[in-house]
Amino acid sequence: MTTATVAINTPRAFASCESCYAAGRLVGVWVDAIDAADFTAEQIHAASGIDPAVEGCEEFVCMDTDGLPTTDEPSLEEAARWGAIYEEVGDTQWPALCAWVRSGSYIAEGDTDYPVISDFEEAYAGCWDSFRDYAESLADDIGLLDGLPDHLQQYFDWEAWTRDLAFDHVVEPDGHGGKFVFRSL
Ligand SMILES: [Zn+2]
Repeated sequence: MTTATVAINTPRAFASCESCYAAGRLVGVWVDAIDAADFTAEQIHAASGIDPAVEGCEEFVCMDTDGLPTTDEPSLEEAARWGAIYEEVGDTQWPALCAWVRSGSYIAEGDTDYPVISDFEEAYAGCWDSFRDYAESLADDIGLLDGLPDHLQQYFDWEAWTRDLAFDHVVEPDGHGGKFVFRSL
């Protein structure tokens, strides 16, 4: 049995040649997003049999991405920046960070779209089967019903409490039937 950690969520970018594209040829390579801006003209054309020096290719763009939370097509530099954010937050947390960004209710750096990692870590409250599960666990943690006699606890209005709690949170599907829960900061 192996315990090696496998990165399964690594975002990728398709680094491609703009001039070849304009000439009707789709030339490029799929690379880890963090490396997107580091590929040379030769590497981008390696599999195509085209000599970029001969063709005069010098403009390279990101034509597709996989595993990024952005809907716009980023530049290669922007894809690389997302790749760096992925490295910083780690493979395990990356899907939650992407969900936070996709929710639109996230904190970005200055006037960019890049999320602030420290704020993400403060906001992220885990992945749960349902928001109610999160609410009940939180109630336990904060001792919500402490001091209330056992025979009265059944009268506590969980639905109303959970509904009110939801106003201070953002909930996003995790794609596997669960919910990412984020505190509103
Ligand atoms: Zn080219």
